[in-house]
Amino acid sequence: MSLAHGRPYRAIPGPSVVPDRVLAAMHQASPNIYDGPLHDMVSALWPDLKRLACTDQHVALYIGNGHAAWEAANANVFSRGDRALVLATGRFGEGWGESMRGLGIDTEVLNFGRQASIDLNRVEAALRADPRHALKAVALTHVDTATSAKNDIAALRGLMDMVGHPALLMVDCIASMGCDVFRMDDWGVDVTVGASQKGLMLPPGLGVVWFSERARQAGRGGDLVSPWWNWEPRAFGTEFWQHFCGTAPTHHLFGLRVSLDMILHEEGLENVWRRHAALARAVWAAAETWGAGGAMALNIGDPAARGHAVTTLRLDSPDATRLRTWCEAEAGLTLGIGLGMAEPGSDAADGFFRLAHMGHVNAHMVLGALTTIEAGMGALDIAHAPGGATAAARVLAQATLAAAATPAERLAAAPVAMPAG
Ligand SMILES: *Cc1c(COP(=O)(O)O)cnc(C)c1O
Repeated sequence: MSLAHGRPYRAIPGPSVVPDRVLAAMHQASPNIYDGPLHDMVSALWPDLKRLACTDQHVALYIGNGHAAWEAANANVFSRGDRALVLATGRFGEGWGESMRGLGIDTEVLNFGRQASIDLNRVEAALRADPRHALKAVALTHVDTATSAKNDIAALRGLMDMVGHPALLMVDCIASMGCDVFRMDDWGVDVTVGASQKGLMLPPGLGVVWFSERARQAGRGGDLVSPWWNWEPRAFGTEFWQHFCGTAPTHHLFGLRVSLDMILHEEGLENVWRRHAALARAVWAAAETWGAGGAMALNIGDPAARGHAVTTLRLDSPDATRLRTWCEAEAGLTLGIGLGMAEPGSDAADGFFRLAHMGHVNAHMVLGALTTIEAGMGALDIAHAPGGATAAARVLAQATLAAAATPAERLAAAPVAMPAG
């Protein structure tokens, strides 16, 4: 017998849960790409994509995954031999650095390990060691999906300004866009990289690059950018096809229209951020409770340095893999593997897993996932203190009370049974 027969829940950090409305919007016949409604729809996508990143500057779309978006950013900003400083707080930061190196960019990686966000003192030393300003850009992940470490982008910008270093600031928001607070223009970010399959709630296949006018000018005339990667026609083209350097990704665009409506025009971006913050706090409360009686531990100790889209968790090896296997086979819940935390295939790699809470995820889904994890630990005899799921429930109940602005709203949101009618 298995209790997995029902609607499966893939709580892996991308591809994330795709809303039924997005799937329905994608389920239609091919449109005319030469004129008509598709053109009008796409014209209205650009301002909304900019609202999503809180920027008034430029945006380009690519048919591709996150790696494609990295390469797009790299190819437009750098020339061969230019210098970049990458601040790595997990596998994805390292990966962006490898993408740069592969293009012939002279890439220095400052690695902050797998359990913390960047250390501004070390960054300051690296910037001061470059008095001639040879570094063209500083690049990092906002949230690294492997470690779940989040970096304080505004503080980094403040440091760069304080040191007086003119390098461009490039941020990978693939995991955090539409999940964690991110304000591209207010925070002085020059290049922001995103992809469709995380907070944007779409299948993989669209890469997004937002760029400042400063980045555009700095990259002009570079020798890495081929016609297909060039962000100029994609952002400023006068012909429809130029925005995609060929046929538009029509069905992803239908889905994107709906996901942007849901985020920006229905729930509201600030509320989307608040929902992710509350769900993340619930996950942390559960893990901390369990951890009081066993090996369960949050990978990132400092709550301020934890992303709101995904949580990386530790257990004794091989319990993380046993738990993941049980959750999928017995309960229909797919958890993420520990990525980049230990040598793949090594014993240590079986001591990590990840729970995604990004995009189309609500309170009952997170509570369901946490209760399932608790059931799995019970079934597998993995030592833990009881009450994690209850602690999470308390956090979410509290969040609805705190979010209600007026006494009347607080009453309406109060978790008490009201007599009907
Ligand atoms: C998912 C992810 C990537 C990689 O995206 P792919 O679509 O797998 O190429 C890069 N950076 C971050 C932070 C991610 O979460």
